[in-house]
Amino acid sequence: MQPCHNCRAIIDEYTLDKQLEPLRGLTADDFNVCADCATVVPDACVACDGAVYVPRSETSTPDYCPACRSDRIERTGRDPGWTAEHTS
Ligand SMILES: [Zn+2]
Ligand SMILES: [Zn+2]
Repeated sequence: MQPCHNCRAIIDEYTLDKQLEPLRGLTADDFNVCADCATVVPDACVACDGAVYVPRSETSTPDYCPACRSDRIERTGRDPGWTAEHTS
C-alpha cells in the first residue's frame, strides 16, 4: 500500500477501483493519488471519448485519458502530457 501523493492517506485500491470503474487498472499505479484526491470526468478524452481521470491537484481537465496518454508514450516514446498538441 502506498500513501497518496497529495494528502498522504494510504491508498485504498478497492475504493479507488469502485469509484473509478471506467479506468480500472490505471489509477493508483499511474498517479499515486487516493480516490478522495481524484475527479472523474466522463466522455472527456479527445481520442476515445473515455473518462478522464484528474488528480485534484490539476487545475485543468485533461484532453487524454490515462489509457490514451500511455498509448501515445508507447508509440512515440514521448509523453504528450495531459493536453492535446495543437499542431498545424
Ligand atoms: Zn489523497
Ligand atoms: Zn482516451
